[in-house]
Amino acid sequence: LSERLSGVFDRLTKQGALSEDDVKTALREVRVALLEADVSLPVARDFVKAVQDKATGQAVTKSVTPGQQVVKIVHDELIAVLQGEGEPGALRIDNAPAPILMVGLQGGGKTTTTAKLAKRLKDRDNKKVLMASLDVNRPAAMEQLQILGTQIGVDTLPIVKGENPVQIAKRAKTQASLGGYDVYMLDTAGRLSIDEELMAQVEAVRDVANPRETLLVVDGLTGQDAVHTAENFDSRIGITGVVLTRMDGDGRGGAALSMRAVTGKPIKFVGLGEKLDALETFEPDRIAGRILGMGDIVALVEKAQQTIEAEQAERMMKRFQKGQFNMNDLKMQLEQMMKMGGMEGMMSMMPGMGKMSKQMNDAGLDDKILNQQVALINSMTKRERANPQILQASRKKRIAKGAGMEVSDLNKLLKMHRQMSDMMKKMGKMGKGGMMKQAMK
Ligand code: GDP
Ligand code: MG
Repeated sequence: LSERLSGVFDRLTKQGALSEDDVKTALREVRVALLEADVSLPVARDFVKAVQDKATGQAVTKSVTPGQQVVKIVHDELIAVLQGEGEPGALRIDNAPAPILMVGLQGGGKTTTTAKLAKRLKDRDNKKVLMASLDVNRPAAMEQLQILGTQIGVDTLPIVKGENPVQIAKRAKTQASLGGYDVYMLDTAGRLSIDEELMAQVEAVRDVANPRETLLVVDGLTGQDAVHTAENFDSRIGITGVVLTRMDGDGRGGAALSMRAVTGKPIKFVGLGEKLDALETFEPDRIAGRILGMGDIVALVEKAQQTIEAEQAERMMKRFQKGQFNMNDLKMQLEQMMKMGGMEGMMSMMPGMGKMSKQMNDAGLDDKILNQQVALINSMTKRERANPQILQASRKKRIAKGAGMEVSDLNKLLKMHRQMSDMMKKMGKMGKGGMMKQAMK
């Protein structure tokens, strides 16, 4: 696959903005890669379509081909979709005892994951955990959980023959309250495939337990089937998160993307082996790299982008040292600030910048108007940007109007530029620009 890809990408060497054709050509290969990773067909199709709209027109980084650029965009988008909102691995388990309901098909890894998660909660979060097996269909299943509990030092609800899952769930709740447990985990029975009886049973358990978290445990290697399973469990039971198991296998894990796309629910953990400590917080970038299988291209584009940013910073520093700081530099600074989490984020990273930060604040510069400042600079001519002193009243009016603002706004910007420019000069004289070099990192 990799060879075929580089073949296609080598042929696309045009620079500039990504054309629709560049994007389409590259995305054909991306689509194949997604399908090979077992992403379900409709999910792959939708994903590619969304990226196509997003990527067309974006700039191509120097020394990178359009195809490579598209791969990088795909990679970033993949991470964004996989990540979703919220912190991976976080569980809502306040209000003890917090019930966690584990659901999924038989053999998906529910019982193992119940034990793994219990161990994690006990070891990492210092929680007192009770586990209960509701799998009345197979007596061996209850014993399986009991044995795992002994291995990890976590209590299990004593087995009482003849109870149904709802009765067990109620008993677990009572026991958890009486015993001062922080969390109790309900490991439900699975079926080989979705059926009405199973769903009705899980639903009844859900209604008595009122779980804080309902985690769907799915075999990460099942690909297409996983989507169907997730759809069913989510619409019928309502899940709060997903655990993907068997990610230690050599599959590419496309189920992760399908899961996210279909349920919109967070993937919280991945199972990476049969051992009881083989459970990790879900890491979107790792899975994205694996699904796409184009890590070398992504790394290459990232390197190119870093190189260019470093070159720009270097050029700017040299100019500061010579006492040159024009509107283009200011624009770059403003754009950089927006990228770096706005004003506060930027200033907090720059040693000795407290004073400048105050000046900028005095000038009325907050994150909201960074954009307006850039718009003002954009409506200046090249000559004016290099030399803002030449601006006359009539031009000022025009520029302000062009950016949809008042002349007073432009004057504020010019004042800020003068102040910054003075500071840059002083700093340049202070020698070697050591401080700026530090700040630009
Ligand atoms: P359940 O029917 O959903 O309760 O599934 P089990 O927890 O009994 O697991 C079925 C099999 O999958 C067992 O042999 C587990 O050891 C194995 N298993 C579960 N999670 C993982 C995992 O993350 N990686 C690997 N390699 N095997 C796993
Ligand atoms: Mg089980």
